[in-house]
Amino acid sequence: MSKPGGGFRLEFAGLKEGKHTFAYVLGAEFMELFPETEAFCEPEVRVGLELEKQERMMLLSFRFDGTAGTYCDRCLNPLRFKVEQEETIIVKTASASDTDAQDEENLWWVSEKDTFIDLASYFYETIALSRPLQVFCPEDENGKPTCDPAMLDLYEQPAAPQEAETDPRWDALKSLKNRI
Ligand SMILES: [Zn+2]
Repeated sequence: MSKPGGGFRLEFAGLKEGKHTFAYVLGAEFMELFPETEAFCEPEVRVGLELEKQERMMLLSFRFDGTAGTYCDRCLNPLRFKVEQEETIIVKTASASDTDAQDEENLWWVSEKDTFIDLASYFYETIALSRPLQVFCPEDENGKPTCDPAMLDLYEQPAAPQEAETDPRWDALKSLKNRI
């Protein structure tokens, strides 16, 4: 699954051996690549990248710093979570004979023809994985959650009891409505 990376590509062709630095800003433009996502919203994340190029290998040291938006798992209030991550990834160049070269967690492969790496999916995953499994509104000084009480009431209300007897004329109308 590769998405168009836009400004989130790492163009590495032509880089001299040694260290190079890059910076990316993950904001509104980044979100345009993932219009359907519910994993997070409104990211404000800076990514610093130090690249060390060697003969057939690159070391990518990423540093993520920022926040992204989500919703309280209890009341759907908008909240933000931190995106702070440091990760080093090794990029190796596969020759035509390396047919079993497969990406692993901290090892990516590029082919000799590749000139860039699309980082958008990697950035997306890093933000998505930074969201805690459960996010709740903070507690007040009494240890009570500051969730939206109206929303809590809505969730905690038992389902409306079914009316034992219904007017047969309403039932007829309802079934008519369902068929439309
Ligand atoms: Zn809440």
